[in-house]
Amino acid sequence: LSERLGGVFDRLTKQGALSEEDVATALREVRVALLEADVSLPVARDFVKAVQEKATGQAVTKSVTPGQQVVKIVHDALIDVLKGEGEPGALKIDNPPAPILMVGLQGSGKTTTTAKLAKRLTDREGKRVLMASLDVNRPAAMEQLAILGTQIGVDTLPIVKGEDPVAIAKRAKTQAGLGGYDVYMLDTAGRLHIDQELIAQAAAVRDVANPRETLLVVDGLTGQDAVNVATEFDDKIGVSGVVLTRMDGDGRGGAALSMRAVTGKPIKFVGLGEKMDAIETFEPERIAGRILGMGDIVALVEKAQETLELEQSERMMKRMAKGQFNMNDLKMQLEQMLKMGGMEGMMGMMPGMGKMAKQVQEAGFDDSILKRQIALIQSMTKKERANPQILQASRKKRIAAGAGLEVSELNKLLKMQRQMGDMMKKMGRMGKGGMLKQAMK
Ligand code: GDP
Ligand code: MG
Repeated sequence: LSERLGGVFDRLTKQGALSEEDVATALREVRVALLEADVSLPVARDFVKAVQEKATGQAVTKSVTPGQQVVKIVHDALIDVLKGEGEPGALKIDNPPAPILMVGLQGSGKTTTTAKLAKRLTDREGKRVLMASLDVNRPAAMEQLAILGTQIGVDTLPIVKGEDPVAIAKRAKTQAGLGGYDVYMLDTAGRLHIDQELIAQAAAVRDVANPRETLLVVDGLTGQDAVNVATEFDDKIGVSGVVLTRMDGDGRGGAALSMRAVTGKPIKFVGLGEKMDAIETFEPERIAGRILGMGDIVALVEKAQETLELEQSERMMKRMAKGQFNMNDLKMQLEQMLKMGGMEGMMGMMPGMGKMAKQVQEAGFDDSILKRQIALIQSMTKKERANPQILQASRKKRIAAGAGLEVSELNKLLKMQRQMGDMMKKMGRMGKGGMLKQAMK
């Protein structure tokens, strides 16, 4: 994606705000990238549309290109979609013994994940866990869980030949209660494809066990198909969370995005290998970077934004300490105020400005005024911004007309700039800006 977008972004060299066209051009490529990462088509389409609305008109940070900025916006939006409610790795396991039902297609990694989670709960939370295999179709599958149990030091329900899954689930429940276990995990059988028998079996087990968590285990490499599987399991059995396995592979992890967008179920864990500790809490940031394949650019944009803000406020502090305060400074202040929750919020944060905040409030000051004032400053020339005292009647008329506002409003702005300038001078004299520096902290 980096290379392809590079070409597009070279053309986007305009500074200022992101135009609709800038954003549309970049997003066409992002859409292709999402599809390549196995995100399903409708999900990719909806996602791009949402980002388009969000990104258009956003100011471009000067030290990065508009293209890079679009990527950052896309990245942030991806994280928003990927993030579910609640903590990713948290499981509802109060009221012992808490049943956890593991469902999914054959080979998705259910048995492995069951053991990995059991180990995690044992090691990290000191829980006593009992595991039971309900896979009566493949005797080897029951053996597999028993072997893993021995390996990680977690108990498994003794295997009884000829029992059906519902009977095993009942026995596990009884055993977990009698044995004083905190959690019992039911590892169900899978099929290569979803069929009615599989679903009916899982539903019957669900009805006996009444699981606190029903975790759907999905192969992260399967992409689009994963969404259909997830929808089907959720409709028929009800799923409380998803575990994406094989995220150690080459796949880009687009399944994660589709799954979140379509089912709305939280992704709780990701499997990162065959070893018993190869499981981690799902981290939206990591997957987002992987889906886009552009983690570096995102970091760069973040850094650029931080530095720019720091530079601006440092420069302004120096000027203010010297008692300099022209329209450029005022504009920066106004923009900051808008960003920080308006005039009141900002004044409230600065010591010694409480009185002014009150006046502001009484004057019925709101954000639309801030925006109008910024518009007025924008219609001034460079020279006028630096030396607002040169503004005579004709210039004032031109500026007001340029912003579509009255001269009286411009006069108010000029008065405000003078008053703030005076105040800055006074503050500047108090200990070489020491007070200002404190106020800005
Ligand atoms: P089940 O049929 O759903 O119970 O799947 P299994 O748990 O038996 O796993 C099938 C295969 O996938 C096994 O060889 C596992 O070692 C492997 N596997 C499971 N999870 C992961 C994972 O996160 N990464 C990798 N690389 N392999 C995994
Ligand atoms: Mg299995």
